[in-house]
Amino acid sequence: AGTLISACSATQKPANKAQASVPTNAQIEAILSNLTLEEKAGQLNLINFEGELGEEHYEMIRQGKVGSLLKSNGAAQNLKLQKIAVEQSRAGVPILFQEDVIHGYKTIAPIPLAEAASWDLPAIQHSAAVAAREASAAGIQLTYAPMVDMSRDPRWGRIIEAAGEDPYLASLVAAARVKGFQESGEGNQNILATVKHFAGYGAALAGRDYNIQDLSERELREVHLPPFKAAVDADVAAVMIAYTAHDGVPLTANEYMVQDVLQGELGFNGLIMTDWATIYNLERAGVSANEEDATITAINNNIHMDMAAKKYVELLPKLVREGKVDEQLVDDAVRQVLMLKYKAGLLDDPYGRFDVELEKKELLSAENVEATKQMALKSMVLLKNSDNTLPIADSVKKVAVIGPFAKAQKDLMGWWPGLGDENDVVSIMAGLEQEFGDSIEFTYAQGVEIDRFNKAGADLIPEAVKNAEAADLVIMVLGEQEWMSGEGGGTASLHLPGLQEQLLAAVAETGKPIATVIVSGRPYVLTDVANHSDAVLQAWMPGTTGGNAVAEILSGKFNPQGKLPVTFPYHQGQVPIFYSYKKTSHPFMEGVTEDRYSTTYRDVQHEPLYPFGFGLSYTEYSYSDIKLNSASMALDGSIVASVDVTNTGDVAGREVVQLYIHDKVASVTQPVKLLKDFTLLELAPGETKTAEFTITADKLSFIGIDYQPTIESGDFDVFIGPDSVQLKQAEFTLN
Ligand code: BGC
Repeated sequence: AGTLISACSATQKPANKAQASVPTNAQIEAILSNLTLEEKAGQLNLINFEGELGEEHYEMIRQGKVGSLLKSNGAAQNLKLQKIAVEQSRAGVPILFQEDVIHGYKTIAPIPLAEAASWDLPAIQHSAAVAAREASAAGIQLTYAPMVDMSRDPRWGRIIEAAGEDPYLASLVAAARVKGFQESGEGNQNILATVKHFAGYGAALAGRDYNIQDLSERELREVHLPPFKAAVDADVAAVMIAYTAHDGVPLTANEYMVQDVLQGELGFNGLIMTDWATIYNLERAGVSANEEDATITAINNNIHMDMAAKKYVELLPKLVREGKVDEQLVDDAVRQVLMLKYKAGLLDDPYGRFDVELEKKELLSAENVEATKQMALKSMVLLKNSDNTLPIADSVKKVAVIGPFAKAQKDLMGWWPGLGDENDVVSIMAGLEQEFGDSIEFTYAQGVEIDRFNKAGADLIPEAVKNAEAADLVIMVLGEQEWMSGEGGGTASLHLPGLQEQLLAAVAETGKPIATVIVSGRPYVLTDVANHSDAVLQAWMPGTTGGNAVAEILSGKFNPQGKLPVTFPYHQGQVPIFYSYKKTSHPFMEGVTEDRYSTTYRDVQHEPLYPFGFGLSYTEYSYSDIKLNSASMALDGSIVASVDVTNTGDVAGREVVQLYIHDKVASVTQPVKLLKDFTLLELAPGETKTAEFTITADKLSFIGIDYQPTIESGDFDVFIGPDSVQLKQAEFTLN
């Protein structure tokens, strides 16, 4: 063990550079000037009340110790607490009510990763707006979303919560979500958004949640920061700091990341909060010797709000009196909290946002349920469909539905189900029965049990096989349980949990056609699943109406149109695998014929099973060659690249046309291609439309050797196509 020379010299205490201008106004200054030191510290306290609310909680509020509350009590309960704060505490400052409204509050939308698979920004924005409307009606004014942590490791459970592997798509989704929460509704229908977890949390080593991240400055800037920048540019109200350590220093204490990057470079001047008790993490990580040091470190680093550690409320008054913390920092933090309360309208009307009648009307309203169904439909990705197995043909009269997720309800809501009630969820089995009525006779077999340690035996498999033998078509519903992804939901194996693959193999022995529906919050290795299935639909965790959405896709009422926002590996040992890799200096290895990966394994193919951007449809599209309006462009000019896309099948569909660019020679190695634009085309059978993309110099910029955005003249490849692999190519020069 290291010997401390003195507690102080061993402790990292960031110097406060006070770069960010603190937003304030006269109303805020008037409140602030009336607060005692204890009351100021109370404003910075964000706590959750465990269990039933009672006198001890009310007393804390009366004492001015509860600045913000994390708990969904509903409008009536929150109003009661608000009245105590406003009428019975000395200073009468209203409470800001906060919650993890991640993909729905009561009506649950598909998990965020699924929504990204729609590539439909207005729909994603609308989904956040629906969540905001419900949460707001239930007395919540701030959500801990959007989560924008980039991850290229499906072992990490929280890959479920963001928008996949690509920084461009993820940035657009981040901005859409911020706008959806903060500004899509009228007045009180909006809630404040918190972008999280700043930054690099998704790089947790080996996909183990909360692990250290070992990120280069380059990867931080190329991959992890862009969606945060997009959220800040979209005027996000708050930022939550990650649990992890960046470059050896926990983010809560990381002066470079918080003060230089977030407040300095990104220009964020709103509220910064810890994640759950991360002030304690400073001791745990061994950068603070005790809780006082940890508290000093956090406030010095402009961390304004203390979630759940209760250290600010307990220690700040004393630390200020002892001269160890500058009161100015506490005041600035209080200004930030009050600014959120101001923005939420609480300073003008502390009771205006707690309307029990509105709450009744809004939660699970027909409109909200329909919106989440549309989102679910748009987010599902058809991965395989040989011999037109789907949509289900009229000739199919008997269907065996098999699998541990066929009747699942809770699992369809996924991680962060808000206040969603599993009894409100339409299971896939129920959805199929509603959709097909008497036209199909369904049987059901669970097939296998999923248990925590995969110890369940194979005794349910024979019944499933028997059902399959008696059917015209088998629908397998496989996947993972809701707790298996999400926070703390790391997995070492990327094979479907339990004996699900064995079950599928046994059913496949019957020779019956099989359509497999995957319920999961992450990419699994579906190689064997695809081999044993005629069709595969990635349904994700599709939310309240997930069963209806799956059924409408299987019946053909809705033509699937989702595209993968993340690579699906062929083998788990390939992880991390992503489309925008960089080439190294070695020439091709023996046996590698294609110019795709210059490094590879000897035992498995070097390509993923399904690439980024991939997704099938019930129709087919043909792409013309790329037309460029010019072979070169100037720095202040532009080039228009276009392709004609034709729907060559006989049903209408919507195609996501994707544009990638590759900088052929640059001072820093560039990815083989990077998504730079996309457009959604609705195409009737036989119809042709032109997808037109304007390329300006900002699309050609990269993070230079000095870590600044850089543009260099030279030759570029432009690629356009239906995914990141099947691409048309052309070239142009930037002069
Ligand atoms: C998570 C955050 C979440 C917070 C409050 C933490 O453990 O990392 O994403 O917002 O808890 O529930």
